[in-house]
Amino acid sequence: MYEASGKKYLDLISGIGVSNVGHRHPKVVAAIKEQADKYLHLMVYGELVQTPQVKLAQKLASTLPPNLSVSYFVNSGSEAIEGAMKLAKRYTGRTEFISCYNAYHGSTQGSLSLNGSEDFKQAYRPLLPDIRHIRFNNTEDLTSISEKTAAIIIEPIQGEGGVRVPDAAYMQALRKCCTETGALLVVDEIQTGFGRTGKFWGFENFGIVPDVVVSAKGMGGGMPIGAFISSPEIMSVLSHNPVLGHITTFGGHPLSCAASLACLEVILEEKLIDKVTEKEKLFINNLNHPRIKSIRNKGLLMAVELESFEVVQQVIKNCLQEGILTDWFLHCDNSLRIAPPLIITEAEIKEACAIICKALDF
Ligand code: PMP
Repeated sequence: MYEASGKKYLDLISGIGVSNVGHRHPKVVAAIKEQADKYLHLMVYGELVQTPQVKLAQKLASTLPPNLSVSYFVNSGSEAIEGAMKLAKRYTGRTEFISCYNAYHGSTQGSLSLNGSEDFKQAYRPLLPDIRHIRFNNTEDLTSISEKTAAIIIEPIQGEGGVRVPDAAYMQALRKCCTETGALLVVDEIQTGFGRTGKFWGFENFGIVPDVVVSAKGMGGGMPIGAFISSPEIMSVLSHNPVLGHITTFGGHPLSCAASLACLEVILEEKLIDKVTEKEKLFINNLNHPRIKSIRNKGLLMAVELESFEVVQQVIKNCLQEGILTDWFLHCDNSLRIAPPLIITEAEIKEACAIICKALDF
């Protein structure tokens, strides 16, 4: 990235978790131009079927277990979470939702109600009723899931919580509880999706299959798009009584769908996911400094734990001066965020790590 003066920056956060294929990937740009030459917005999403939407939905289905074959496209992560919540209410006939402490699922009033930190919610109450919170990766708390629960909404790896990776046994126990109680398991892949964790979808790290997958951010290759994805049986409830269960004028915008399809193809064709493990190791091996307390990560979703918020802020400033863009986390202010585009090179990783280590010397 370049600022107005021409100064160069290496983007280590992908604006946040968006630019997985880098900025202005030529294939993404070409797909946008090609679509712009055909048509832009035509009609409210769902009323008429458009080619870019169908092609993207088909390709998305090919990345998922067979039953997760129906995609509903929207404009953002928050809207996709809203859609998933409405879907769970309709399908189960229940109203209770469960999410985790330290979770982040969006900023609209439904998705904000799921937020796992009181700081972000208190100024906007009343929010949705019937929301319960449980501890992430704590099997004991799974007893809160009951026949009253419409859905549990969970990040497969908590992003804003500071990159918290659950145990596979926990995720499998969660899957079992949902199946036994009839609550839908909604996995928020907005930050983990499209290759970031070393698998195409974050849930693949844990040997589970969710009922609903929610995607956004990195799926657009730099264009705004989100989706909630489920089975034909579950998704069909949005089509009747009332019709048009989720109305979105710009959802599934043809430019965004064309960009998203190109982004997905780039990730698969360039085998970007295969290189994630090697790149994460390179970061871990090159981030050596007495100020670093620990590094939590899954693939290229990384949190470098430091002493305090103040130290993190100073490091972010020092890095900016040296042309490296990093960030902090909403629910974990003592850690530095590293989530580079998956196309980052070995040389760039080494250069970035050297600059971060220098930025820690103050
Ligand atoms: N869920 C997760 C896990 C996120 O990281 C975010 C964005 N930080 C959202 C939902 C909300 O997405 P958006 O900002 O596109 O509404």
